[in-house]
Amino acid sequence: MEEIPVKVAVRIRPLLSKEILHNHQVCVRLVPNTQQIIIGKDRAFTFDFVFGKNSTQEEVYTVCIKPLLVSLTEGYNATVFAYGQTGSGKTYTIGGGHIASVAEDEKGIIPRAIQELFQHISENCNIDFHVKVSYIEVYKEELRDLLELETSAKELHIREDQKGNTVIVGAKEFQVECADEVISLLESGNAARHTGTTQMNEHSSRSHAIFTISICQKQSAESQKNTDAAQDSSWKSVQMIASKFHFVDLAGSERVTKTGNTGERFKESIQINSGLLALGNVISALGDPKRKSVHIPYRDAKITRILKDSLGGNAKTVMITCISPSSSDFDESLNSLKYANRAKNIRNKPVVNYNPEQDRIDEMELEIRLLREVLQNQQVSNQCSHELSQERIRISSLEEQLTRLQVQCSSYRNCLDEAFPFLVDLNDDVSLKRSQRDRLQRWITMAQEVRKESLSLQETGTGTGTSQGPHHITILQLKRELKKCQQALVMDEEVFSQKNHELQTLQNQIKTLLQENEEHLESLKEAQETHRLQNEKMVEQQMLIDQLKEKLEKFTDVKTLDISGASADGPAIVARARRPYSVPLTKSLLRSLHPPSGTETHKVYTSTPAFSLTRVMAQFRAHSQIILSNIEDHDKVLHCHLSDQNDKEEENKGSKKKASFKHSINLTWTRKHASLCFLPDLSDVKCQVGKSHLSNKSVPQTDTTTGEEMDSLQKSHVFNMQKLKNSELRLTEAEQKMRELALNIRMKEELIKELVRTGNDAQSVSKQYSLKITKLEQEFEQAKMELAETQKRLQELESKELRDIPEKDKLQKEFRKKMDAAKLKVQ
Ligand code: ADP
Ligand code: MG
Repeated sequence: MEEIPVKVAVRIRPLLSKEILHNHQVCVRLVPNTQQIIIGKDRAFTFDFVFGKNSTQEEVYTVCIKPLLVSLTEGYNATVFAYGQTGSGKTYTIGGGHIASVAEDEKGIIPRAIQELFQHISENCNIDFHVKVSYIEVYKEELRDLLELETSAKELHIREDQKGNTVIVGAKEFQVECADEVISLLESGNAARHTGTTQMNEHSSRSHAIFTISICQKQSAESQKNTDAAQDSSWKSVQMIASKFHFVDLAGSERVTKTGNTGERFKESIQINSGLLALGNVISALGDPKRKSVHIPYRDAKITRILKDSLGGNAKTVMITCISPSSSDFDESLNSLKYANRAKNIRNKPVVNYNPEQDRIDEMELEIRLLREVLQNQQVSNQCSHELSQERIRISSLEEQLTRLQVQCSSYRNCLDEAFPFLVDLNDDVSLKRSQRDRLQRWITMAQEVRKESLSLQETGTGTGTSQGPHHITILQLKRELKKCQQALVMDEEVFSQKNHELQTLQNQIKTLLQENEEHLESLKEAQETHRLQNEKMVEQQMLIDQLKEKLEKFTDVKTLDISGASADGPAIVARARRPYSVPLTKSLLRSLHPPSGTETHKVYTSTPAFSLTRVMAQFRAHSQIILSNIEDHDKVLHCHLSDQNDKEEENKGSKKKASFKHSINLTWTRKHASLCFLPDLSDVKCQVGKSHLSNKSVPQTDTTTGEEMDSLQKSHVFNMQKLKNSELRLTEAEQKMRELALNIRMKEELIKELVRTGNDAQSVSKQYSLKITKLEQEFEQAKMELAETQKRLQELESKELRDIPEKDKLQKEFRKKMDAAKLKVQ
């Protein structure tokens, strides 16, 4: 048996108008005068045939399909299948579109092949042709009969016949007489094909379609005779040839992600791709050089099972790979070319589908077997009927005998009845011999006994006769009832099987619902978990914010304390007071330096703390300079006053602290009051200093100043100077600290802002989650409702099925158990 490779053709369609409009670039080209194709820059592939963008339908048909049609008429099986991504021109090339609306030279392979086939038939009148067509679709791994849509998928099976050829059992095969008939069938089938909308092609085929033309050719009897007479040695070769031509339009080969499909369409894509994947695996396995040792996975998908004869089988096969020239389809085109390249390695072993002798022997054997079976059946039936008729005849003869005997019996009885009284009389009247009398007497007693017996028999006979009647009737009635019951039983069984089926579907539905439910619950739990985590985060962040706020407050406290520490003298009271929230720190200090006039209004200062602090420091320094100069002039007086003042400050501090503690709400005003209280004191100090100075000037020095006094004054002066220096040092330290603090505060403020922002984000996320949760809860409710509905339906079913048999009860119990389990799960 000769091995020939599968022929592989590649067809590049022209750019579509919309592609030209979008300025798509061409990424595939043909190498002139070769069968080579170059994709991208330099990826070259060689095939049996290559067709460029200018190739015509006629050209493709003549080069690829015409030889196949010739083979078909010679008795070979033939297959052409179109492979490629959606929109690459498969349907256009195969000719599975709207044939009627397509121009003559635009017609694809199928209409051309049909025309040529019928042309061949008309030219060969001596051969008796029978042409049948079928049109099958594989959609989501299920078969569909496109010529008889009522046929359910379960009625269609892929089988292998005795010779190992693949056949689709249950598919409608239309016997056709002319090309037009085939075209109209093809059209109706195309209309029934599944099409869907994807991003790539509005009416892309989502299924594999297999249009099959089966021809059976037989030399007519007349021509046979002629050829016999002519002693043509090849006469047998035209005997009974049956061959098939499959035209296969495969579904789009694009990867699932490219179509942008989702949901049901995504699943569909996966199923379609699984078919093509299996086809790819079959092609790979067949192309393997160690093929014999490799298992060919034909059984993995329906399409590979159907194409078993065509790939590595006994058919002649052409694969047309359609590709788009657009550079946007580069990946898919490259994949298709790789796929096609692998297919080149497949080798088929085509055989003519006839073996005259073997066929005849087979036929004869079959006929003999059939005849034997028929004969056996007849014999059996004959035997039975013969026995039955004999039995009937016997019964009727017996019945006849019985009636005859009955008639005889009744006539004898009559005779006896008549003779008996006569003989009794005779016995009484006539004088007979003793022996005669004895004999007569014996006869009479015998007759009496017989009569008695017959009477009793008659009685019982009539008794049984009367009772037989009603028995018979009851038997008949019972029989009738039995029949009715049997009929009812059959109907019941039917109903029962139907209900069982429904029950099963319902169970399946419940299962899926429960599964969905579980999934929902899981996602609900997840959402709740994330929500909880978000909440925890929120709380943490809130706590952090609070902590930071506290810290900030503390920092401001420290700041004010530091200021008070640094200015241990004059403005200590002002500085020690807590910094009011609404009034900046500088204000009280400013007021301490410039006592407020009655008309002065309250102002809120918006300057930054650092800026106000530096200002305060500068003012403080200036103030301390004034005080220092005063001290230098009037050491003693100042010393006294300052010490007094210090006491006062201490008192003020104590009372102020208390007040602020007690009236924290009125804090600002308390402080203001405190600062106001202090200001006259300070001015008093100034006045007193001034006064003492004046008095010192007016009193002569010799009178007032003694040596001791001078010493003490000097000491206090030195002491004051030290104190001042110390306070200056502390001031610079405080300044440094203040700067650091200001920086720190600014950083903290930014941190707080960011935290607030993330807090807001978290809130929005948690809002989204809570929305999601409510949605999930709604879905959950819906699932629950559906479950309840199913239960209702089940109850209805239960109530309908009144004529229960124990099995039914069992089933129902089981089902109820399952339902309970389901309810538990839902809970
Ligand atoms: P597929 O069946 O692969 O999804 P189609 O056969 O539906 O693709 O082709 C998609 C579009 O491209 C159709 O409009 C068709 O008319 C056009 N087309 C395909 N091949 C050719 C070609 N060789 N010449 C002109 N137009 C073509
Ligand atoms: Mg198509």
